[in-house]
Amino acid sequence: MSAAPNDALGAGLPETPDHNGAFPRLDEEQLERFRRLGRVRAVEPGEILFAPGERGDAFFVVESGSVAIVQGYGAEDRIIAVHGAHRFLGELSLIVGQRIYLTGAVCEAGAVIEVPLQALWGVVAEDKAMSDLILGAFMARRALLIGLGTGIKVIGSRFSSDSRRLREFLARNQMPYIWIDLEDDDQAEGLLSGLGVAAAETPVVIASDGQILRNPNSAELGEALGLGTRAPPPVLCDVIVVGAGPAGLGAALYAASEGLSVQGVEATAPGGQAGTSSRIENYLGFPAGISGHELTQRAFVQAGKFGARLTTPAEAVALHSEPGRHEIELSNGIRVTGRTVVIATGAQYRRPQVARLDEFEGGGVYYAATQAEAQLCSGDPVAVIGGGNSAGQAAMFLSETSPCRLLIRGGDLGKSMSRYLVDQVERNDAIEVCAHSELVELHGERELVAMTIRDNRSDEHTRIPATALFVFVGASPHTEWLAGQLETDKGGFLLTGRELDGDQLAEFEGEPPLFLETSRPGIFAVGDVRSGSIKRVASAVGEGSMAVRLIHERLAAP
Ligand SMILES: Cc1cc2nc3c(=O)[nH]c(=O)nc-3n(C[C@H](O)[C@H](O)[C@H](O)COP(=O)(O)OP(=O)(O)OC[C@H]3O[C@@H](n4cnc5c(N)ncnc54)[C@H](O)[C@@H]3O)c2cc1C
Repeated sequence: MSAAPNDALGAGLPETPDHNGAFPRLDEEQLERFRRLGRVRAVEPGEILFAPGERGDAFFVVESGSVAIVQGYGAEDRIIAVHGAHRFLGELSLIVGQRIYLTGAVCEAGAVIEVPLQALWGVVAEDKAMSDLILGAFMARRALLIGLGTGIKVIGSRFSSDSRRLREFLARNQMPYIWIDLEDDDQAEGLLSGLGVAAAETPVVIASDGQILRNPNSAELGEALGLGTRAPPPVLCDVIVVGAGPAGLGAALYAASEGLSVQGVEATAPGGQAGTSSRIENYLGFPAGISGHELTQRAFVQAGKFGARLTTPAEAVALHSEPGRHEIELSNGIRVTGRTVVIATGAQYRRPQVARLDEFEGGGVYYAATQAEAQLCSGDPVAVIGGGNSAGQAAMFLSETSPCRLLIRGGDLGKSMSRYLVDQVERNDAIEVCAHSELVELHGERELVAMTIRDNRSDEHTRIPATALFVFVGASPHTEWLAGQLETDKGGFLLTGRELDGDQLAEFEGEPPLFLETSRPGIFAVGDVRSGSIKRVASAVGEGSMAVRLIHERLAAP
């Protein structure tokens, strides 16, 4: 698309320096490869290479001249980056098929190499060095863009639960966005009246194509962002994977890499619980630790590289089976059919039985401790409740920006927390461990300001200041959607393999179930949703990969 040169983006804009491998330069050999795969064409100042709302179908490399990446082209003209010769354009959305939210505008005349997206996929799949360079840069760019606040705009009050729901959905999906708070942004009301939106209709989302969404649900927002695979699912796939936490991503990745057709379904965002962990320190191969969302984002891209499809956000709401064929009904009305199913729907944290908890949920009470929550309470005192590793990690992470109390019922932190973490917590001056403590009451009008805790030995009640409570008190499985069709233990976790006996084996007609197979042949359970599983990322991924081996066996059985 050609346009008149934009004065704000004239030649001479300095090139953005590289940050952590986000803006690498290609060498002559790499450039030559892309020249062969695409076409070199001249470009003029003002020419638009890609625009918000589009789904990118080309990968651009700058041969000469320069290209600016701009937020709000023609209106705000906020320059996010400038790329000169031998740099490539784009970010994660190009690889995962999300809608573009920034403009790529030529500022200095020159030439670009335009490579069809399909050819880029070929390079990424075949060449490890190029895959590391390009995917690494795309992920680093996404992290920068989230930090800068770019992309779609969300206008609402920070006290509204719907605003919090939308922001949490965006954060879980690692989508950059610009937050405009009606409570303290002077321009917010003017912006709303310019759009013809009443304050009562907020929160509103201004999508990248200009579409205005009034208090959208997850499916509407996901559609506007272009999340997940858009094409309809295949008529009958080899494996349906329900849930895209570490176990589901592991199953999808291994199945796709072994040539099985895979349809994944995810209710909220790829990554599951692990995606909400600020730092996973015990996953093999990452001696310095890795953030949960980086680990799972890499896995998501990797599964896509092998051809796994993922429909998201879409919740599995029912299971219908006949021998050798299973149908999963989704909340968006779509039905996916497969020869086998892997259930990897994981678990979620329990809610403590405390009055007024729901009033503050999402706005003072949180079940995850990521950058998004930490930003909301930075500097103010916070409390974490729970004695397991996730509580310890959350306390360590939050203590970087806020004084933190860690409330545990018992007297010994080492009872259910790994030793390395107990040592870190105990050495940390910003964390106060409150043993024998139980939460009794939350205080505050619109915002949480304090809570009362009880010493369960002396019954003494103490009021402590806290603007946020982080809850990590054990988990319950996501199995309600199965409506009792598969056998579970008392806690609702799915029974598999040798844990099944007697009548629970009725559907197997005398054959023993495979390891990880539920009470229905061809349906497997992996990760936290499985009875007796070890609640760890490594074991979830391991079970996901093992299930694929068993699926081959089930599909080969007469
Ligand atoms: C804060 C935190 C920190 C942690 N830190 C560590 C750590 O350092 N090391 C470690 O080893 N483990 C850690 N864990 C535990 C680890 O994250 C889990 O054991 C692991 O994520 C389990 O993976 P999973 O895929 O089985 O389930 P989950 O991660 O729970 O993923 C399940 C997925 O299924 C989706 N889903 C649920 N129901 C449906 C439905 N009906 N339809 C479609 N999708 C559905 C969910 O949205 C979710 O994305 C941590 C957990 C938390 C919460």
